[in-house]
Amino acid sequence: MTSTARPHLNRRLAGFGTTIFAEMSALAVRTGSINLGQGFPDTDGPEEVREAAVRALRDGRGNQYPPGPGVPELRAAIAAHQQRWYGLSYDPDTEVLVTAGATEAIAAALLALLEPGDEVIALEPYYDSYAACIAMAGGTRVPVTLRPADGRFRLDLDELRAAVTDRTRLLLINTPHNPTGTVLTREELTAIAELAVERDLLVVTDEVYEHLFFDDAEHLPLAAFPGMRDRTVSIGSAGKTFSFTGWKVGWVTANGALVSAVRTAKQYLTYVSAGPFQYAIAEALRLPDAYFDGFRTDLRRKRDLLGDGLRAAGFEVYQPQGTYFITTDITPFGEKDAYAFCRALPERCGVVAIPNSVFYDDPDAGRSQVRFTFCKRDDVLDEAASRLRHLAS
Ligand SMILES: *Cc1c(COP(=O)(O)O)cnc(C)c1O
Repeated sequence: MTSTARPHLNRRLAGFGTTIFAEMSALAVRTGSINLGQGFPDTDGPEEVREAAVRALRDGRGNQYPPGPGVPELRAAIAAHQQRWYGLSYDPDTEVLVTAGATEAIAAALLALLEPGDEVIALEPYYDSYAACIAMAGGTRVPVTLRPADGRFRLDLDELRAAVTDRTRLLLINTPHNPTGTVLTREELTAIAELAVERDLLVVTDEVYEHLFFDDAEHLPLAAFPGMRDRTVSIGSAGKTFSFTGWKVGWVTANGALVSAVRTAKQYLTYVSAGPFQYAIAEALRLPDAYFDGFRTDLRRKRDLLGDGLRAAGFEVYQPQGTYFITTDITPFGEKDAYAFCRALPERCGVVAIPNSVFYDDPDAGRSQVRFTFCKRDDVLDEAASRLRHLAS
């Protein structure tokens, strides 16, 4: 027997091929299409934050291995951010951990907190790294499906309660939610918190869109609900909040015991995260309210720009209350298969989108859903809308 007699990819990762984002971004490049698939802004974040990174590089701050938990300036700024926006107090020395983006925070949390066979409840459709990280940790994924009702995606609390078993270890909650754009309400979060306390569950919250909510929606961190402070691992990221997705600066806030567990796993994944960017994000987190308000206002306008274009083109649009994604339904075109639709879209009109079906365990649940991002320049969104209008004719 040679070592090639069995598949190279182990059983835990079997079925996790190329991420849909890589596949669709490559398709966009190959066909010269407008890429409304992958969610990265085409305009960089604030100039002063970029300058802060340049200064740190030039001044020799962070060019060598920074401290494992993150540079003290950034940990202090993360703690101050949680206090400023949510009234949550964290000790920057023991209750804050800097990670290589939220992606590493999610991976480290799951690798640290799960025993093989533990069940993890995740809201479906889910961000694609959840399934892979649960699998790498040897856990079992238990999806609870958000379903469209009255133009938004809703969490069925009875279904959530029914999904908890004796083997459930943690709830993996994402709000504002990618891909649906749903922002969980105070009532929904209260119910999740009560369930976590009643069944003694840990909760990992992916809050990378914490500053991106619109209209009447508002982001409420689960860690602030009764009984949640000591069972919640909260995850944030500079990528989405400051439009620097390439910097990969993320963070965890939680009590000391949870942070210590997550840090143990993080140490052996990346050891530390890139130094100079940490100093820059420490400054970004202290930007005045005007930055956060302006960012939100700008994105809401873009949401409406793209939303109007998609409606005019004939899509059924689920109005997002947060994130920078719009989920649509292609049934009005007489089409049923989002994946086939997305593969054909560049040929038909020069636009790339993402089929939501890949974010479901049961692909039938999201078979006809397609996601578009609106974190692009206005002229790009205008051009995409006019191209998509060809679908209507
Ligand atoms: C973009 C995204 C992430 C990854 O964040 P990084 O900081 O870039 O690693 C995690 N979760 C969700 C829901 C996202 O949309």
